[in-house]
Amino acid sequence: MSTGEASGTGIPGERLAARIEIEGRRVNEAIERGRDAGEGTVTFMCECGRVACTTKLVLSIEAYERVRTSFDRFVIAPEHDIPSVDTVLERHDDHWVVEKQGEGGRLARRDAQHLERYDDD
Ligand SMILES: [Zn+2]
Repeated sequence: MSTGEASGTGIPGERLAARIEIEGRRVNEAIERGRDAGEGTVTFMCECGRVACTTKLVLSIEAYERVRTSFDRFVIAPEHDIPSVDTVLERHDDHWVVEKQGEGGRLARRDAQHLERYDDD
């Protein structure tokens, strides 16, 4: 049945993490591609980087693609920014656009995880 492409055996944690990240982006891209509503809007996941964040955002295709033209820009839910690394470029009622500093992007994830734990306590 299968072509025998062995997978699922001993995937290193680092790889798995990268995969999850890529999946996240794929989901958003797939959603964008599947824009079918005809209302000129897309629904996709918040990109704030907080591990536990599952907030969904609705954006006009125009706004979404404008953000996508820059690699450092992310669309997040309002107030999901991490002030130490995110520069908020645009504030809208239903979404914010932030720019992550190069190295800060990495730290952002650690910081977010820390915040999540702190929040949980
Ligand atoms: Zn978020």
